[in-house]
Amino acid sequence: MFNLILFGPPGSGKGTQSEKLIAKYNFKHLSTGDLLRNEITRKTPLGLEAKKFMDKGQLVPDEVVIGMISSTLDNNPNVVGFLFDGFPRTATQAEALDKLLELKQQSINVMLALDVSEEELVKRLQKRGETSGRSDDNQQVIRTRILEYNKKTSPVADYYRKSKKAEMVKGEGTIEEIFKGLIKEIDSRIHKK
Ligand code: ADP
Repeated sequence: MFNLILFGPPGSGKGTQSEKLIAKYNFKHLSTGDLLRNEITRKTPLGLEAKKFMDKGQLVPDEVVIGMISSTLDNNPNVVGFLFDGFPRTATQAEALDKLLELKQQSINVMLALDVSEEELVKRLQKRGETSGRSDDNQQVIRTRILEYNKKTSPVADYYRKSKKAEMVKGEGTIEEIFKGLIKEIDSRIHKK
C-alpha cells in the first residue's frame, strides 16, 4: 500500500487535487470534512455533534474524528492506498493514525504540504463561498478556521518532518501545475519501492 497525506490550510486546494490524484492512482479518498458533512446530511448523532463545531469554524473533537477514521479504515481492507485529506489535523490525530495503521502493518509513506500564502487563501475561500453553499465559507468563520489551522494543525507538519516524511509542494499556480508537482513527489516514492 501507498498511504499519502495531503496537507495544507483551508482553501489550499486539497479537495481539488485529491480528486485528480484519485483518478490517476486509484487511492481510496478519505476526507474527514466530507465524511462529517455526510453525517450531518444524514442527521446522525455524530453529525449533529460535529455541526456545532463546524458552523463556528472550530475543529471537531479528536475522539469523534479518530473513531470515524478507524471505522473507515476497517471498512476498506483491500485498497491500493489511502489518501488522507483534512486529516490528521492535530498532533493527537497524527499519533492515533500511526497506531491505527500499525495495527494493519501499514504506515504513512509521505505527507505532501500545499504551500499557499494567507492572502491567496482568504481570496479563494471567499470566492468559493459564493458558490459552494457551505455555511462555513463566510468571512467570520474563515478567520476562525485559519486561526485553528495555525494553532492546532500546523504543528502536525513538524510531526512528519521529524520522521522525514514531510515534503512542501507549491500550491499556487494553475491546477495542472500544482498537480504535476504532487505527481513528481509521489512517483519518486512509489517507484523506489
Ligand atoms: P477546509 O479544509 O476547507 O477547512 P474541510 O472540509 O476539510 O474544509 O473541513 C471543514 C470543517 O470540518 C473544519 O473546519 C472542521 O470543523 C471539521 N473537520 C474536518 N476534518 C477535521 C479533523 N480531522 N479534525 C477536526 N475537525 C475536522
